[in-house]
Amino acid sequence: MEDAIRRLKEWIDGSDNIVFFGGAGVSTESGIPDFRSVDGLYRQKYAYPPETILSHTFYVRRKEAFYAFYRDKMLAPEAQPNAAHRKLAALEAAGKLRAVITQNIDGLHQKAGSRRVLELHGSVARNYCERCGRLYGVDRILHSAGIPKCDCGGDLKPDVVLYEEPLDEAVMAQAIHYIRSSDVLIIGGTSLAVYPAAGLVQYYKGKKLAVINKGAIGVRADLVIDGAIGEVLAQV
Ligand code: NAD
Repeated sequence: MEDAIRRLKEWIDGSDNIVFFGGAGVSTESGIPDFRSVDGLYRQKYAYPPETILSHTFYVRRKEAFYAFYRDKMLAPEAQPNAAHRKLAALEAAGKLRAVITQNIDGLHQKAGSRRVLELHGSVARNYCERCGRLYGVDRILHSAGIPKCDCGGDLKPDVVLYEEPLDEAVMAQAIHYIRSSDVLIIGGTSLAVYPAAGLVQYYKGKKLAVINKGAIGVRADLVIDGAIGEVLAQV
C-alpha cells in the first residue's frame, strides 16, 4: 500500500487538474454510516430497507415514517469533516483540485472549506415548502416532530434526490465536464452501485484513475488503494 500511496502523491504533486468523485464512505470516518459497509445502514434492521424508505413513493405515501428514519439516520448535525474532507479542501485552495463531485448529502465538504462541490443527490441543508416554495435550513427539520411544516402550513421536503427521482441535469452536466477534462481522477468511498451517478466514471479519458476504497469496486483503475480514505489522503 505504501508504494501505491507514494505513486498517488506523485500524481497529485504533478497535477493542477484533479477531480474527486466520492460517496458515503468519505464520511464514515466522521461517524456517519454508509449504506453497504458491515456496519452500514443495509445491515441494520428496519421495517423496510433504506432504499425503500428513501424512495419517492414511500415519501409520498408514508411521510411521517420517512421523517422518523430521515431524522434518525440521515441527519448528523454534530458530524465534523475528517482528514479526507480537509485534504480535498486544501488541494482546491492550492489550485490543484478543480471539483469535488459527491453523492453525499451531508454538507461536510463545504464545512471543510471546499468551494466547488457538485452535490449529485442534493443536500440535507436545503429544504423547501411543497406548497409555497419557501426555503428552510436543516434546523427546521431537526427541531420539529412528525412531518415538518412551513409557516404557511405546507409540508417541507428536503432538497435531496430520493430513489425514483431524477438527478439535476445541470449538476450532472457539470460533473461530466469536470470528469471528462480532468487529468487525475480520484474515486473514493463509494460502492459505485447507485446509478446514474456511478455511470459518470465512463467520461474519464485519462490514464490516472485512482481508487481509494475499503473493498473492491467495479471500475478499471490505474491505481487501487484498499484502505480508509481519511488515513490515506492524510499521507499525500
Ligand atoms: P455505499 O454505502 O454504497 O458504499 C460506500 C463504500 O465506501 C463501500 O464500498 C465501503 O466499503 C466504502 N467505505 C466505507 N468507509 C470507508 C472509508 N473510511 N474509506 C474508504 N472507503 C470506505 O455508498 P455510496 O456509493 O455513496 O452510495 C450510497 C448512496 O447513499 C449515495 O447515493 C448517497 O447519496 C447516500 N448516502 C449518503 C450519506 C452521506 O451523505 N454521508 C450516507 C449514507 C448514504
